[in-house]
Amino acid sequence: MSRIAYVNGRYVPHADAAVHVEDRGYQFADGVYEVVLVYNGRMVDEIPHLDRLDRSLGELRIPSPMSRPALRSVMRELLRRNRIHTGLIYMQVTRGVARRDHPFPKNAQPSLVMTAKRIALPTGAAVENGVRVISIPDIRWERCDIKTVALLPNVLGKQQAKEAGAYEAWQVDRDGYVTEGTSTNAWIVTKDGELVTRNANQAILNGITRLTLLKLAERENLRLVERGFTIEEAKRAREAFISSATSFVTPVTQIDDAVIGNGKAGSVGLGLRRAYLDYAEGEGRT
Ligand code: PLP
Repeated sequence: MSRIAYVNGRYVPHADAAVHVEDRGYQFADGVYEVVLVYNGRMVDEIPHLDRLDRSLGELRIPSPMSRPALRSVMRELLRRNRIHTGLIYMQVTRGVARRDHPFPKNAQPSLVMTAKRIALPTGAAVENGVRVISIPDIRWERCDIKTVALLPNVLGKQQAKEAGAYEAWQVDRDGYVTEGTSTNAWIVTKDGELVTRNANQAILNGITRLTLLKLAERENLRLVERGFTIEEAKRAREAFISSATSFVTPVTQIDDAVIGNGKAGSVGLGLRRAYLDYAEGEGRT
């Protein structure tokens, strides 16, 4: 079965999906995006993702390409046409096509592109063994709270991780504090059992998975603190993990050359992963 994409009002074969060369997303990275997890046929946290899309658009003063009900029906139609049971929806909105010039164009129509793909959930040993992250300097701009398609530092960081045989790179700010991964939020469990993730401000993307995990952690009565932590504190932690719509909760068992805990996934991370998947199965469907 061939994949179908949505491009500005049309469902087209994925191979033919294209926007104009003067789309401002292509020219200036002048656009925003969202990635929504589809789990067992249902979208997880659909409304929070669409709220964040609206916020990102608002921050960049890009008009919405269509009403929310229309957007939700495109998402459903795309899943139907691609027969996705478990996978990801990617949507991108740019300021549209205009003659290349930096200021906002007067009459551009925002472009909306949507794709969907299947994913397989990692299980068993892949989860148990966890992943390695490396630490790198955070070289991004000061509005990391906006989910823009301007991802070059993230791309370079992820490539550096890959070349180092790691799964992710944790970005570290000038004061030595971890901001987040290149496409994930960062968490640790300290030696005395405190669950820590950085407070959300303009230095990080406030992950929708992060927000859901905060709720689940509270429900499970975990000792939770939103604060920065240094890479040294992380290396001494009992557990570490990353979160995103794509990786849910993925245990981290090595940071640079430091082994975390006993080198296997920790119980808090595994518990939250289970809780998140249960949530995705049930009440996370919106
Ligand atoms: N941080 C960054 C930089 C990201 O790109 C992402 C996801 O793409 C996340 C965090 C996690 O966000 P979410 O949980 O909404 O997927």
